[in-house]
Amino acid sequence: MKTVSILGSTGSIGTQTLEVIRSGGDIRVAGLAARSQIDLLEKQIREFHPSKVAVWTEEKAAELRRNVADLEVEVLTGMDGLIEIASMEEADIVVTAIVGMIGIRPTIAAMNAGKDIALANKETLVTAGHIIMPLAKELGVNILPVDSEHSAIFQCLAMSDANRNGIDKILLTASGGPFRTWPAERLSEVTVEDALKHPNWNMGHKITIDSATMVNKGLEVIEAKWLFGVTLDQIQVVVQPKSVIHSMVQFLDGAVLAQLGTPDMKLPIQYALYYPERRFLAGDRLDFWELSEIRFERPDFDKFKGLRLAYQAGRKGGNMTTILNAANEKAVAMFLNRTIGYLEIPEIIEMSMNEIPFKPHPTVQEILETEQQVYELIDRKYDRTGK
Ligand code: MG
Repeated sequence: MKTVSILGSTGSIGTQTLEVIRSGGDIRVAGLAARSQIDLLEKQIREFHPSKVAVWTEEKAAELRRNVADLEVEVLTGMDGLIEIASMEEADIVVTAIVGMIGIRPTIAAMNAGKDIALANKETLVTAGHIIMPLAKELGVNILPVDSEHSAIFQCLAMSDANRNGIDKILLTASGGPFRTWPAERLSEVTVEDALKHPNWNMGHKITIDSATMVNKGLEVIEAKWLFGVTLDQIQVVVQPKSVIHSMVQFLDGAVLAQLGTPDMKLPIQYALYYPERRFLAGDRLDFWELSEIRFERPDFDKFKGLRLAYQAGRKGGNMTTILNAANEKAVAMFLNRTIGYLEIPEIIEMSMNEIPFKPHPTVQEILETEQQVYELIDRKYDRTGK
């Protein structure tokens, strides 16, 4: 029986992971970590019986401790709590489903404790891929991608070395988001509501905005580079508006393998949890008569400047990917708060990439310092409090 801990159990991936565990009926939950949604976390504790949980603040922890006083569960807090959940003795796999660079240190802690990682926290590889991948190899732990595209590629490769050595190209598919068909001139009018309407996937707010700007695809390009050991030039983004193909691999002999399916995050989650076993998963199946055709388009790097910037940052490496990611995180938060307009998101990313000092081989500490520098830079430049 496998035992799992989940970092980010109350978010979109976290709750779907628990749905997979509920229907599987044969995975135990060791620990859960959430930021602040203690009501939902309490329900999860009562259903899945973890021995330890963590929340971000002491205040939320105190409230949760009172609410679950009838149960035998230890409530931890902050980064120390996250790290403790990540490295619990009884867990075999840690699902990293928290959003942001806050995921780096717990992921490294889990790896050092010998856990396989079901990776849903993009930022870990985007900002620290040069540290994480060699460490995984050294420790002999698996990094099992939960991102749907990377899971698709992982499934196409079936992890055989022969397949890995024969990769010519990764064809990373993208839906193109809600603005694919909008003329570039209209993008200045985009509202938060427009950007939150994703055509195919139902996800958290941050990633939905990232899909609209296609920065998400850019982060996935960088993630794919690390996961599959290819260069940026070997990764081609292919727009496939209906999200039927979840990604493809072209091999040296010209063969292309693709993974297709309905857009349901439970598939990549379940594949990572039970890897290499395939299990029944309830849900819709593709209906090829209904589908009748699959269309492809070239991505527009001028309209989706964030995607171009991500390729630039990925080629440059070092802390440039951290600068891209941190600037994007901050800009998306400002857009969601209606402090800036949609087109200012890539502007802020580009400005940060130009201004923050470059470091070719950043340590984890330097990655986190770069993140702070980016936040401070943007705060200084975009102080709109009326001063
Ligand atoms: Mg994805």
